[in-house]
Amino acid sequence: MKKRFTFRGGIHPPHFKEATENVAVERAKEPQIVTIPLHQHIGASCEPLVKVGDKVKIGQKIGGAQAFVSAPVHSSIAGTVKKIVSLPSSTGSNTMSIVIESDGSNEIHEDVKPKGKLHSLSKEKILEIIKEAGITGMGGAGFPTFVKLSPPPEKTIDTIILNGAECEPYLTADHRLMLESPKKIVLGLKAIMKAVGVRKGYIGIEDNKPDAIEIMEKAAINDPHIEVVVLKTKYPQGDEKRLINAATGRIVPSGGLPMDVGVIVNNVGTAFAVADAIETGMPLVERVVTVTGSAVKEPKNLIVKVGTSFKEIIEQCGGYKQKPGKIISGGPMMGIAQYTDEVPVIKGTSGILVLNEKEAHIPNPQACIRCGKCVDICPVNLQPLFISQFSMKRMYDEAEGYQALACIECGSCSYICPSKRPLLHSIRMAKREIISKRKKS
Ligand code: SF4
Ligand code: SF4
Repeated sequence: MKKRFTFRGGIHPPHFKEATENVAVERAKEPQIVTIPLHQHIGASCEPLVKVGDKVKIGQKIGGAQAFVSAPVHSSIAGTVKKIVSLPSSTGSNTMSIVIESDGSNEIHEDVKPKGKLHSLSKEKILEIIKEAGITGMGGAGFPTFVKLSPPPEKTIDTIILNGAECEPYLTADHRLMLESPKKIVLGLKAIMKAVGVRKGYIGIEDNKPDAIEIMEKAAINDPHIEVVVLKTKYPQGDEKRLINAATGRIVPSGGLPMDVGVIVNNVGTAFAVADAIETGMPLVERVVTVTGSAVKEPKNLIVKVGTSFKEIIEQCGGYKQKPGKIISGGPMMGIAQYTDEVPVIKGTSGILVLNEKEAHIPNPQACIRCGKCVDICPVNLQPLFISQFSMKRMYDEAEGYQALACIECGSCSYICPSKRPLLHSIRMAKREIISKRKKS
């Protein structure tokens, strides 16, 4: 049996992936209207490059990046710009957005052209393609990929890891992508390796996806520099630092970045987008989204145009089966709860999860019984109970002393706590206060 790698701590929540793991990806219907936020990534917002009344085509750049840490946005449909206004986004806040109405032509912008074979592209050219295609991390965090692949000269990178763990319950978008487009993911990995100048690439996949492990191994069989790493199924195995530790044995120091240990991690969806930008020239204007949960009639994996509303996508899955109790962008552990279904799919939307009212009910917290479970499972070796208690008493300096900022917000402590203490929520609050105090001083 192949060796399986993992990390210390973590939890084993039910997978809830049965509804969509064997459902092939299909293309969602063309949206009539899209709402494309100018801020879909970590970093600065884009500035609009179009005005109301302008005609746009698929793949046309409509928002320009004005800062190094940013990524342009492109139109996902052909049509007319109707509005440029601030609207709710699935990131949880209101964002300036470009609303486009389709003209039904599906005309592709003339800049969208194949960029050539990988062997003919220089490192600089690959980076430029990734930058211009507006590719951002597709696992949820949304860091601009071009920036991630441009480490400062003093950092030596020798390894790229593709994250195919997909450890969040319910989500199967990455799993299906690996099953249905393995060669394209490997091409994307090779392009990323060439762009950064490294020779070693890993693809990390949890052992609850044996079919994906087999198919990715086959896809990479002719490249001795690429290896599939089988990971034990455990949450949060897909966290960058846990993944690096499991795949390479290296430990990213607290407060440090993967580049500090010579590694860059990208999602398998990001690698797919890189390959697509090279092969077809199409920027990141659509992605695979898992639409699932007990309140959705027909759960599916859909290729969705960026800017399509959650409401429209849920309707294409048969609509609501029962009254929704909670709509989440992403998975149940790290996803963002939405107060409306009239928010758009963005580049980082890996899933739309709709729970029923019973599942969404949050029980009243009870007193801490000092069972120590939250300490046992914290993958970062924190003491969540103390950080939380300090946070609730607004003793943020003490919370900082207990390394609150090292929390990766995986939510494992809240999940495991028998007293249902709001651990993650209070730790997040402490982090926000500590960061805000640091900025002020
Ligand atoms: S303290 Fe943070 S890192 Fe540790 S289990 Fe809780 S949420 Fe995860
Ligand atoms: S898991 Fe909950 S009850 Fe147990 S020590 Fe942590 S906060 Fe207290």
